[in-house]
Amino acid sequence: DIAAPVVVALCGADLPRGSGLARAAGLPDSDFAHDGQITRSAVRALTLAALAPRRGEALWDIGGGSGSISVEWALAGGRATCIEPRADRIATIRANIDGFGLQGRVAALQGSAPEALEGLAAPDAVFLGGGASAGLLDRLWTLLPPGARLVANAVTLDSEALLAAMQARQGGRLLRIDLAEAQPLGRMRGWQPQRPVVQWAVTR
Ligand code: SAH
Repeated sequence: DIAAPVVVALCGADLPRGSGLARAAGLPDSDFAHDGQITRSAVRALTLAALAPRRGEALWDIGGGSGSISVEWALAGGRATCIEPRADRIATIRANIDGFGLQGRVAALQGSAPEALEGLAAPDAVFLGGGASAGLLDRLWTLLPPGARLVANAVTLDSEALLAAMQARQGGRLLRIDLAEAQPLGRMRGWQPQRPVVQWAVTR
């Protein structure tokens, strides 16, 4: 009987514990191709929680980098357009789209925001992970349909100041994510701080 082993394989009865992809966002950075520019796992988990993907929703991922945000958005059931000006990073994004089997769910678009956004269908959510400027934030605010969610992460003082000013005007939630991870320090261990990330999350 050929059917029995197939059913067992589909049910995963023989798979070792921990096989397959985790269902929650914040996959290890090492699961992605990247050149060092990647939203780190713990910050990515908080970012996906703020983006709050629903099945079938569309994301603009501005400053795609490795595409890790688009990948985790699509793994949660959404579709994403990943916008990134650098050709080498577009190649990395495509490698991650292929690696996670997300062809047709995530598109890599080479270009810079806001110009590259013109002509795209309106999104349900936008992530701004790079290229924050007053001009871009103002343009995004006019492009976003009512009810769309915007999440922006800042690592520089300059973009942090922009997000603080936007929150004063438009409301939403400002979060400072200040993390440290234990690392070897000589023969002992010490806390290795990550750069703090300031996150603005708002519904248009
Ligand atoms: N979230 C990404 C990392 C973003 S790094 C990840 O998880 O991998 C920020 C990226 O923004 C860089 O790759 C940079 O090339 C890109 N960038 C800078 N200015 C931009 C702009 N105006 N439009 C789109 N992308 C931009």
